[in-house]
Amino acid sequence: MSHPDPVARAAELRATLDHASYEYYILDRPALADAEYDRLFRELQAIEREHPALRTSDSPTARVGTAPVSSLPKYTHRSPMLSLGNAFTDEEVRDWEARLVRLAGDDVLRAGYSAELKIDGAAVSLLYDGGILAVGATRGNGLVGEDVTPSIRTVRDVPLRLRGTGWPERVEIRGEIYYPFDRFERMNEERVRDGEPVFANPRNAAAGALRQLDPANTARRPLRFYGYAIVAGPGERLTFTTQSEVLETLERWGVPVAPHRRRCDTLDEVAAWAGDVEHKIRGSLNFAIDGGVVKIDSLALQEDLGVVGGREPRWAIARKFAPDIAETRLLDIRVNVGRTGALNPYAVLEPVEIGGTTVTYATLHNEDLIIAKDLRLGDVVQVKRAGEVIPQVIGPIPERRTGNEQAWRMPATCPQCGTPAVRDEEEVAWYCPNVGCPGRRLEGLVHFASRGAMDIRGLSYARIEQLVEAGLVKDAADLFTLTTEQFLGLDRFADRSAQQLVEAIATSRAQPLSRLLFGLGVRHVGAGAAELLARHFGDLDSLMAASEGDIASVHGIGEIIAHSVVAFFADEAAKDVIRRLRVSHVTFREPQPVSISGALKGQTVVITGTLPTLSRQAASEMLESAGARVTDSVSKKTSFLVAGEAAGSKLEKARALGVEVIDEAELLRRTGH
Ligand code: NAD
Repeated sequence: MSHPDPVARAAELRATLDHASYEYYILDRPALADAEYDRLFRELQAIEREHPALRTSDSPTARVGTAPVSSLPKYTHRSPMLSLGNAFTDEEVRDWEARLVRLAGDDVLRAGYSAELKIDGAAVSLLYDGGILAVGATRGNGLVGEDVTPSIRTVRDVPLRLRGTGWPERVEIRGEIYYPFDRFERMNEERVRDGEPVFANPRNAAAGALRQLDPANTARRPLRFYGYAIVAGPGERLTFTTQSEVLETLERWGVPVAPHRRRCDTLDEVAAWAGDVEHKIRGSLNFAIDGGVVKIDSLALQEDLGVVGGREPRWAIARKFAPDIAETRLLDIRVNVGRTGALNPYAVLEPVEIGGTTVTYATLHNEDLIIAKDLRLGDVVQVKRAGEVIPQVIGPIPERRTGNEQAWRMPATCPQCGTPAVRDEEEVAWYCPNVGCPGRRLEGLVHFASRGAMDIRGLSYARIEQLVEAGLVKDAADLFTLTTEQFLGLDRFADRSAQQLVEAIATSRAQPLSRLLFGLGVRHVGAGAAELLARHFGDLDSLMAASEGDIASVHGIGEIIAHSVVAFFADEAAKDVIRRLRVSHVTFREPQPVSISGALKGQTVVITGTLPTLSRQAASEMLESAGARVTDSVSKKTSFLVAGEAAGSKLEKARALGVEVIDEAELLRRTGH
């Protein structure tokens, strides 16, 4: 494909790609779809191949990523962190192999391949000194990255200390930090409800979280890690012979390695693996992948093959998959009422399969976007479900119009209660202003019971809908007065499940203030802000007595949140809910974290049986924040056993070994509650 003016086209492509890279790597807010970026990148590569004189050393095709610009400390990598060449079909993988055979001979055909998932996250390098994590850094431009050690330490599955034996004194492990889908989805839903901009995909959310200046902010995001390389520094030697052995070794050292990897002897096996991953496995993963990576398994051969253009290793190639885009018909646009009253339009589609799942609904964000895209009912539309978990309508295909399509307008009234909608100019959204709107109530209750808030097990969307329809529940406080008999009066409730639900609701009363506050759905107060407020004020009464100024002075809380909190507690309906929650003995306090020098430092504790009010998780968190280690089995080393109802063999064993046994009340006392 040749262009009439390759000089101008190359310059134009470089400018577009540079700008896209800046938005992608620095702002974590991509403006181009990855597939479009890859297409333009390939076009530039083709021009540069045809006209070598047009190559420049600063071309995106000769570089990795973008130089870091944040105020984080810089970190110079011991050896460059590279990018990867791309293959979009099995045929292109064969071309890659043929090029390697021309360079290194038939050894390539005998070396075998390590086929691995290509995690779509943020690349990091972890340096271990004497088996202890010393430095964690981002890739940056491959030569210089950012030192994000404090943030990396908060990532749960990055080992702070390598396990087992046999690791070199200084060793570098490379891998990918990623944001699990379920958590990502939940975070974005919360952001939509709190009126904050959503992250385009988990990759950007992971990269952004990692580069937070305050590691406490990173810790609030549930980042995860998969390792895929052990790298020697200058003058160092590693004893491994294959990439497969490297991955096995990482697992032995306690470093998580991505599942579904396969050692393949031939490219036919690689192609079969890639087909499985693209069509069967991909849809079931809880993290984003943007393809697979195929690596020559022999490390000696990898070294011989080296790096091309300072950018990509010759011995590996990314096998990218077709973007998850499908065409289907837009049947309807409906409007959902969020718990803050926001009217959220969504698309109802003719069911279509994308990336292994059937998609029927897709988000449309807001009215302005629908108008900007000129979406009409009956249009054939493109729908995407790539890194983005929530399917999105990219836009209509106007050429496929028949003339029968109809323009869509936001309804002037709330679809749930008929109250005239109002427009919030700041947030481009329409709202139902009726606080008693059943749609808002329902969503509010769903949020209250959700995992991030009061975590009431078994109280699903459908059950809450039933309760609201039966007139048993209007607000959160009503939940705590429900009886087993009331549940039994509803459809599809058996004795056992009714009783379990009543118990789950009762147990949730012990949730800390931060969860209650988040669950109450104060506008702009997400899980993070709720935690900051609860920690600072300690109990609900102090928070309710605080002025706007007091609240805004809390580190991490701004004026908008402060204003919204004060307005919420001034509202008569909210006051009434709180009064009734108090009557039901819902906890209004936040356990203050006891530092690691805490009361139970160095003690090993086991929990068994059902505790009267605390869940297992809540009890463990209390013990851990007081410095104790919570383990599963009782031994002579156990400091004490916390026993609840129906405790079995662990209690017997503790008694036989003479280990102290305490109850929940004593646990609360020892942990300072
Ligand atoms: P890349 O993401 O295509 O591949 C290299 C990276 O893959 C490595 O840095 C590594 O972190 C990662 N990786 C994941 N699993 C791996 C495994 N098992 N083994 C080895 N590496 C593994 O390359 P890149 O340089 O990070 O980025 C280029 C890509 O980024 C483009 O192809 C494009 O899709 C995207 N991009 C998009 C935009 C945009 O505007 N949308 C802009 C810039 C880049």
